[in-house]
Amino acid sequence: MEQKKYKQNLLDALYEQHKQCTQCPLSAQGRKNIVFGEGSPDAHIMFVGEGPGRDEDILCRPFVGRSGKLLDKILELAELNRKEVFIANVVKCRPPGNRKPLPIESKTCKQLLLFQQIKIIRPKIVCTLGASALEALIDKPVKITQLRGKAIKHNGLIIFPTYHPAYILRNNNELETFTNDIKTAKLLSKSPTN
Ligand code: URA
Repeated sequence: MEQKKYKQNLLDALYEQHKQCTQCPLSAQGRKNIVFGEGSPDAHIMFVGEGPGRDEDILCRPFVGRSGKLLDKILELAELNRKEVFIANVVKCRPPGNRKPLPIESKTCKQLLLFQQIKIIRPKIVCTLGASALEALIDKPVKITQLRGKAIKHNGLIIFPTYHPAYILRNNNELETFTNDIKTAKLLSKSPTN
């Protein structure tokens, strides 16, 4: 079977297995849907955000609200198509009031879903959006202003941290930096040595 189809089947099976997940407290805190993530199963670059917001929870798709609209705009500037990348979050259920996921929620969800998605897709670059996604992947508190824009090798992954689009909506002066980070992440994902 063609590799892309094989990976898609694995992702579909993973979703089926967990679409009614009750493994962490978020399952009982008003989530409507599990927002599994979407994009190419063969993506060279995978974007990882913190967790779904209200719009994402309703539409069952990642980054479709205000932050998502900004992300779409920047992907377009970087000549990246949503269909050729994969977009996901650390936690797949909306935290109430859009609070930061608790450590137990991130830990449970990344083991059950995010790490499995990464294992299946095997992206060349995991581009984390915001401090929370980076912290979940490298298991320590970070200052995103210090770490953004530089690739980090961790547990066999190349992680490229940048800001969360919601931060850019509040700090428009960082828009150019954010755009350049996404362009750099794209370049790294195309590099034959990565
Ligand atoms: N913020 C996130 O971190 N993820 C989304 O999917 C939407 C907003």
